[in-house]
Amino acid sequence: MIKTVRGCKDIYGEDAEIFRKTENVLRETVRKYGFKEIIPPVLEYSELFERSVGEGTDIVEKEMYTFTDKGGRSVTLRPEMTASVARAYVEHHFETMPSPLKLFYIGPCFRYEKPQKGRYREFYQFGVEVLGDESPLLDAEVISLAYEVAENLGLENLKVRLNSIGCKKCRPQYKKVLQEALKPHYDELCEDCKRRFYTNPLRILDCKKEKDELKNSLPKITDYLCGECKEHFEKVKKYLDMMNIPYELDNTLVRGLDYYTKTVFEVVSGHLGAQNALLGGGRYDYLIEELGGRHTPGLGFAIGMERLVEVMKAQGSEKGEEKLIYIAYMDGLEKNAFSVASIIRNAGFTAIIDSKGGSIGKQLKHASKRNASFTVIIGEEEAEKGTVQLKDMKKKKQKEVEIEELVSEIGGKNA
Ligand code: AMP
Repeated sequence: MIKTVRGCKDIYGEDAEIFRKTENVLRETVRKYGFKEIIPPVLEYSELFERSVGEGTDIVEKEMYTFTDKGGRSVTLRPEMTASVARAYVEHHFETMPSPLKLFYIGPCFRYEKPQKGRYREFYQFGVEVLGDESPLLDAEVISLAYEVAENLGLENLKVRLNSIGCKKCRPQYKKVLQEALKPHYDELCEDCKRRFYTNPLRILDCKKEKDELKNSLPKITDYLCGECKEHFEKVKKYLDMMNIPYELDNTLVRGLDYYTKTVFEVVSGHLGAQNALLGGGRYDYLIEELGGRHTPGLGFAIGMERLVEVMKAQGSEKGEEKLIYIAYMDGLEKNAFSVASIIRNAGFTAIIDSKGGSIGKQLKHASKRNASFTVIIGEEEAEKGTVQLKDMKKKKQKEVEIEELVSEIGGKNA
């Protein structure tokens, strides 16, 4: 038997239903904020991620699906999509469009990570990017959008974690201070953090292997922000307070990608275990220029779709309660069955016409097996009168209804 590749999974049944419904809610929510879709390719030149996500990061060092194509170029299955959006911005001169440019995307990403609950090698990200504006108002708006998205999905037990990781001016100094403070503890660090000590010491702050006691004893980045970053962060917090978005300041939040500057945030859910970040994002004011564009500030966030589906299931908030209407009919009345099915489908419900045949009793059994909400029964007598029998499968009650009344009897239009 050939199985799925390790870390990849088939999404089917209830999961697939929740996935698509969730996607629709996400699309609808971001549409209201003025976001337009971008669909970048899955395959990019490896250099894109080396230059943007950063060579010292776990993603680039250990997790990329990189190979040489037949033309001898190094290509990579994207590990995230912000880099692609930034590349597209430069390549297609998006700076000529009205600013700030608001884009969203959804698609599969690939990381060669150790598979576990909530962590896969192929996973879907839905994300938004706001490009071309450095106002802290946008940081607050993007965080509130992230929160609204989660709320619109009916998610509970949510927390926004917020931090500022400074900019090119102030971060180098903090890195030095951090290295000094970590020096006496170097031998206690895990193997990855020993390496990070030299390449990317900030990452040590959010390493799950290091003790909280050590992390909490280290100097806080927010005490080392330059005037500009400090003022920016103060305004972000002020706007979030104005919008009544609850957040927690967390000095250990640094995120795993090098391109972030100033604001970083995550929305976490109590329903996810160790991998509890439902979505993560932040500001990236140098990314576009590092990819060869003009100075263009930007920010965004990405949601892991699989984690969303898991939370929705854990909460039991979505049971895929699509109304399914089964159509049973006597032999020879196929035409009536087709016409009833199209009336039901046009009203937005799922209609399944029986294809196994047999007595009406047998067809009703098929309907039960499929968990139908209603079965429409078309018999000779009813067909002549322009009526049908409508059986409510849950209440086990049956009555004769006029075809014109059918949709309202089922529950009105399913928008
Ligand atoms: P990141 O691109 O690392 O900022 O991640 C953003 C979001 O993508 C996370 O909050 C997760 O929901 C999701 N995510 C990241 N890596 C994985 C993975 N390996 N498997 C499933 N979801 C992931």
